[in-house]
Amino acid sequence: MIIVSDPIVVASPSDARAAFPLLAHDPGLHYLDNAATSQLCAAALDALVRHETTCRANVLRGTHRLAEAADAAYREARAAVARFLGGVSADEIVFTSGATASLNLLAHSLGATLAEGDEVLVSVAEHHSNLVPWFMLRERRGIVLRVLPVTAGGRIDLARLPQAMGPRLRLIALTHCSNVTGAVTALAPLVAAAKAAGALVALDGAQAVQHGPVDVRALGVDFYAFSGHKCFGPNGVGVLWGRREVLERMPPFLGGGGMVDRVELTGASWAAPPRRFEAGTPPIAQAVGLGAALDWMTELPWAAIRAREARLTRRLIDGLEPLPGVRILGPRDDAARAPIVSFDVEGVHPHDLVQVLDERDVAVRGGHHCARPLMAALGVEACTRASLALYNDEADVDALIEALAHALRLLR
Ligand code: PLP
Repeated sequence: MIIVSDPIVVASPSDARAAFPLLAHDPGLHYLDNAATSQLCAAALDALVRHETTCRANVLRGTHRLAEAADAAYREARAAVARFLGGVSADEIVFTSGATASLNLLAHSLGATLAEGDEVLVSVAEHHSNLVPWFMLRERRGIVLRVLPVTAGGRIDLARLPQAMGPRLRLIALTHCSNVTGAVTALAPLVAAAKAAGALVALDGAQAVQHGPVDVRALGVDFYAFSGHKCFGPNGVGVLWGRREVLERMPPFLGGGGMVDRVELTGASWAAPPRRFEAGTPPIAQAVGLGAALDWMTELPWAAIRAREARLTRRLIDGLEPLPGVRILGPRDDAARAPIVSFDVEGVHPHDLVQVLDERDVAVRGGHHCARPLMAALGVEACTRASLALYNDEADVDALIEALAHALRLLR
């Protein structure tokens, strides 16, 4: 079956809901776990189905009709990602299986150009995906990992930047937006400091991309990593964008078909980026679906959507704060934040809370959110997180607050 959806104008959350088949089929669901996975938009689902039913073939190796159609679709997907990232070159887009794979690729390939004693700067606010690959690089190559702390308000503490930057700083690798607190990293001072020190800047954009296109050149960074499933696209696909000059200096991470220029029994030479970094058969239909999701997103009225997300975040924080025993973790102000709000409830385990909320059709996430150092800095083992996307509305926020008040009566 080929699903053909009409183009949908997202003027309101209910319009947006209609553009998401799962939400359209489950009107009672208050889905507030978008930081874990956003729902798949119809544009991406249609593109996936269309691709698999009309031009499924391997890419970058065949010459028959289907292979050429698949090549064209894959090429177009790369171009769509390049447009979403502010009109960068499509040759700078590497498809991976997700943000985690992108960051591991970076740690391996850029890491191979670093020497013992070279420094990489991360922060306490990182997801494990932007910590553990650097721990592993430290083991392999003896790099020095420096760590920026967070403020009491849960933001990366830029006042500590001068002390955190050592004489051999080569890379600053930070989250663009915290998956726990929603804090958006203030990039201008970081990028300026990195440039002055001759260091590169890599951003983990996993949580930022859901909230609109990102102009990576305007941000002044060198790498940008994200996952398809967190920006209304399929899972199993992600992106590492890198500035061409830097990608060209990096050796491959994985070896295999597609990433070589020449292979003899004595050795091999590498294809140019991005193919150098895409060994084996890539996630083809997923990339096509991601391209469609990003093209769909690019056309949306982001100023209005962001204003609505900010209003809902304020409504959520205002609703949570008066509840007994509830403590919001991270910034409570409206400045530079994504619509992600995590909170601790004194005496109640987040998993119990999530279960009671689920009984009221409210889907949120409880746990350490793969950010244990941040949890420790915030003084909790685990917490509950509500994360909003463009299809959420007042009813979703109010349902969460009401269900939470009910849960507190039940569990405390
Ligand atoms: N970085 C951040 C900030 C995240 O929130 C996540 C996932 O939650 C990741 C990286 C890893 O993404 P994935 O599991 O899609 O590779």
